[in-house]
Amino acid sequence: MARSKGLLKEKHLKDGCKGCRAQDKKCAWVKRDCVLLRKHQIAFCFECPNFPCENLKKFDERHIREDQLSPIENLLRIKEVGARQWLAEQAEAWKCPQCGGNLCVIDRECYDCGYPCP
Ligand SMILES: [Zn+2]
Repeated sequence: MARSKGLLKEKHLKDGCKGCRAQDKKCAWVKRDCVLLRKHQIAFCFECPNFPCENLKKFDERHIREDQLSPIENLLRIKEVGARQWLAEQAEAWKCPQCGGNLCVIDRECYDCGYPCP
């Protein structure tokens, strides 16, 4: 969200991660840790026979601890309903109840009106 609002610099965020899918070289942990993702042999981790691998589990634990979000849970849902449906669900889940803007899953607030996530 910070990206689409042009707030990356202001929020001191790196212009890297675009989400739970390896898209390019900027995905640092993927580049470092996973040959399949790096060589684009898979697009989502759940396509891997080792899913969820130790690297992904560590990554997941960190995000649960720091952001109360589980990339593995997201990946399982994407596998179940498809990326398009998952995105629609996320848009609904993170819609600001006050102004209809988008809540930031990391900062836990609406970048449009400042509404704090519960
Ligand atoms: Zn809002």
